[in-house]
Amino acid sequence: MSQPPIQQHKANILVVDDKPENLHLLSHTLTSHGYEVRGVVNGMMALRVAMSAQPDLILLDIMMPDVSGFDICRKLKANDKTQDIPIIFLSANNNIQDKVQAFAAGGVDYINKPFQIDEVLIRIKNQLDLQKAQVKIRQLNEELEIKIQERTAQLKATNQELEQEIIERRQLTQLLKESEERLHSILNSLEEVVWSVDGQTRRLNFLNLAAHKVYGRPATELLENPARRLQVVHPEDRHRVRKEFERLEKHKSIDVEYRILQPDGTVRWLWERSKLIRDENETTRLDGIICDITDRKIFEQQLSYEARHDALTGLYNRVFFIGKVEAVIQKIKQDEDYSFAVLFIDLDRFKIVNDSLGHILGDRLLVEVSNVIQQSLRPQDIVARLGGDEFTILIEKFTDIEDVTIIANRILNKLMSAFNLEGHTVFTGASIGIVLGNAGYDNSTEILRDADIAMYRAKANGKGRYEVFNPEMYAHTLELLQLENDLRTAIERQEFVLHYQPIVSVQTGQLEGFEALLRWQHPQRGLIFPDKFINIAEETGLIVPLGEWVISEACRQLHDWKLRYSSAAQFRISVNLASQQIIQPNFVSRLVEILQAVKLEANYLNLEITETTLMDYGENTIEILNQIRDKRIQLSIDDFGTGYSSLRYLHRFPINFLKIDRSFIKDITLKKEHFEIVRTIVTLAHSLGINVIAEGVETLQQLKVLQHFHCKFCQGYFFSRPVTPNTAESLFSKNWQVAPVVNLVQFE
Ligand code: C2E
Ligand code: CA
Ligand code: CA
Repeated sequence: MSQPPIQQHKANILVVDDKPENLHLLSHTLTSHGYEVRGVVNGMMALRVAMSAQPDLILLDIMMPDVSGFDICRKLKANDKTQDIPIIFLSANNNIQDKVQAFAAGGVDYINKPFQIDEVLIRIKNQLDLQKAQVKIRQLNEELEIKIQERTAQLKATNQELEQEIIERRQLTQLLKESEERLHSILNSLEEVVWSVDGQTRRLNFLNLAAHKVYGRPATELLENPARRLQVVHPEDRHRVRKEFERLEKHKSIDVEYRILQPDGTVRWLWERSKLIRDENETTRLDGIICDITDRKIFEQQLSYEARHDALTGLYNRVFFIGKVEAVIQKIKQDEDYSFAVLFIDLDRFKIVNDSLGHILGDRLLVEVSNVIQQSLRPQDIVARLGGDEFTILIEKFTDIEDVTIIANRILNKLMSAFNLEGHTVFTGASIGIVLGNAGYDNSTEILRDADIAMYRAKANGKGRYEVFNPEMYAHTLELLQLENDLRTAIERQEFVLHYQPIVSVQTGQLEGFEALLRWQHPQRGLIFPDKFINIAEETGLIVPLGEWVISEACRQLHDWKLRYSSAAQFRISVNLASQQIIQPNFVSRLVEILQAVKLEANYLNLEITETTLMDYGENTIEILNQIRDKRIQLSIDDFGTGYSSLRYLHRFPINFLKIDRSFIKDITLKKEHFEIVRTIVTLAHSLGINVIAEGVETLQQLKVLQHFHCKFCQGYFFSRPVTPNTAESLFSKNWQVAPVVNLVQFE
């Protein structure tokens, strides 16, 4: 919209009148009153001037020759440039119609001619003022409009900010809520109890869900009331925990482990860390965390248990035992009167059981043995499994060595009995070395070494016994070790020989055959008897090749005799077998090969198996024995009566001969008991179709008793000691004068 300029000083007036005198008068007057005046005499000029430079006001004559003032006015009002210029009409007609027309055309005032100049001036001034005011108002309006717009914009901005803030706050509140929920959910998912109570009222501020589970009961009341909380603490820990709880009320924090009892009596271990939170010396809160550490405790106990115990038997282990021995060594060094002994137990036939029945039953045997040992001890004695089939015992505070040997004997006797392992009857037996503690020992190694030496000695002396260590054993042990070494090379060097002891028929006094007995022709030590090395050979496994050599050599010898002597035609040769030989997988086929190699008929070979060996393998043995019998090789039970078998089992074994042990024969004339035993054995064996050989017959008296019992065969110094092959040959045709039974022996 176009705006006429606001006149500050001189207003610009256009006067339009066709009468020059009017024009002149008005121009003159108005100019003299400070207006700038332009004058035109017709309408068309008026339009032109007004268009080119807009006046502030127009005085317009109505009656003009070319165009009427109304038309001019209407044209000016119709044009944008000029429509706002106030127009005052000048007219000679003072009628109403003209006036109405004037205003309708857009005029603002109407002056009658002839005009009073003062009136014209006032009306002009009024119109100009009005015009000014209008402009001013319009200006103000515009300013106001701008201000309103600005303000609106400001308000809008502020509003947006507020809205943004509200959104942010809402988000914050949401976040806060979420994080609070998260915190709660975290606290409630914890396994640890998290609690907080008001310091004054002791009301709970917070308690998570874990509490119920840990205590096994609702825990609110517990945590609000320390006395109540103490009631669920394990009685043994209560005193200590009460002190801690008191500390918590007075001091800053506690850190304590204790046990509680759940309602069903279950014991749980807890760890608690609680704090007193003070605010300007005023107690405000007690906060705490409580963990159930039962699993850890159990694990710790297990670890410390496992560190000290043997996993298989549950006995103490080597590490623990050594620690105990070290401790008693210290005790005895301070107090010479203190007494202790270490027993070293080694099973005699564990290896055989393990090899023949497998590890699982081997392990079972170790467990059974450990039970037997434990049952033989007092509660304060310490027993450990050192490893393998070795066990050790620490006995403290005894008054007499007999206190210790009684224990050793008790164990030996119990271990002598049969163990039943899933239907297998096994015998193990044990040898025990004993060391008596003294202040001369500096460490456990020395003690275990000496106990081991004594045990070794017990084995060498025939197993199933104990030996108490003495310093001389050292030398002997070294000797044994030397022997063991020598034994390894003795077979290659052909240092072994066989001696032969006759087996004689009681009825005829004729030679029936021989038992081949092994001897070691040692280059330095001379002739060594089997009781000195058979155990070592068994222990080292050397018995297997050595035993095979014995069978082979005995068969060769017999065949050679049969070729050279007709008297030897029916002789049999008895050969002793060790347990380990029988369980060789190819044992039976090896026997057949050997017999074929030396061309000896199978029925002339008689294998002697101790009853202990028979019992070692149970059903397995019977199967092997049957295979041997199928080859027509003869079988004998050796040392009958000393081992574990009983007459009840006799019928199960496919045997031809039974050799009564010489310990029974020795006392047959002295002890009625043995007299009766031998009689029973002979009677029963005969009823089963088994021949009996009496071993160790040394006197005629003994022979007479055996004749009386109708025992068929005898062997012993009474007839001959074991002799070299040459000497044996000289006995072939010998007939022993066997006196007929005349006077009966004293027991009848
Ligand atoms: P054994 O099988 O009981 O053999 C009999 C032992 O008793 C022999 O001892 C023999 O000399 C001895 N003896 C014979 N008659 C009498 C007598 O009237 N009175 C006394 N007091 N003793 C008599 P030896 O030769 O010292 O053999 C001892 C053990 O060594 C044998 O006992 C046997 O178990 C074992 N042995 C011997 N040779 C072998 C062998 O080649 N292999 C195996 N595995 N063991 C053998
Ligand atoms: Ca024998
Ligand atoms: Ca024997």
